[in-house]
Amino acid sequence: MVSVAESGVVALRAVLWDMDGTLLESEQLWDVGMRALSLHLGGPMSERTRLATVGGPLDLSVWRTFDGLGLDPTPDEQVAAEAWLNAYMAELFAQGLPWRPGARDALGAVRDAGVPQVLVTNTGRQLCEVALDTLGREHFVYSVCGDEVAAGKPDPAPYRRAAELLGVDPAQCLAVEDSHTGAAAADAAGCAVLVVPSLVEVPVSPRRVFRDSLVGVSVADLRDVHASVGVCA
Ligand SMILES: [Mg+2]
Repeated sequence: MVSVAESGVVALRAVLWDMDGTLLESEQLWDVGMRALSLHLGGPMSERTRLATVGGPLDLSVWRTFDGLGLDPTPDEQVAAEAWLNAYMAELFAQGLPWRPGARDALGAVRDAGVPQVLVTNTGRQLCEVALDTLGREHFVYSVCGDEVAAGKPDPAPYRRAAELLGVDPAQCLAVEDSHTGAAAADAAGCAVLVVPSLVEVPVSPRRVFRDSLVGVSVADLRDVHASVGVCA
């Protein structure tokens, strides 16, 4: 592992991509799925509950759905609801996943430039594998899924795991995120963050640079974003 102290320069060594809402329009599908789960469990989902579940780990989002309905699930009910949601989402994902604007070209440009890319998602491995059919596995040297780390975003574990797999310092990585939850995870891991909001507003922070979309984004732009944050390890 090359430490920042040894290299002396915090150069961009990798781009770490969030999936839902950043690369794919799948947050819209999660919106359908979360609302369907709420109805399945007993009633419509409030906007407050919906916003609290954007970008979060699946188990926590399911628990918040129960909680939003005033329900306190048993462990068996929680597990059954998670399985229901996973099966529902697998059907939606299998019907096809649209790209977010500019995301496909950005992935290709980074790959062509020889900068390693990792997919870092709270979505579980099973659904992630369906999504990788759309994304193209060839773009990523690794993928880190929500069910493969000790805690999902907003915990920094997924981003730390990605950096560890690459053998680089998180400060040498640029994370690309659309949600508060995801940006908080990347922030806490020590990455610079390019935020391209989708469903929810994301608060500003010294490590975050905002952009309306990925349309026209170049590798030079990503290097500039990373450099402008001036991450110090
Ligand atoms: Mg997201």
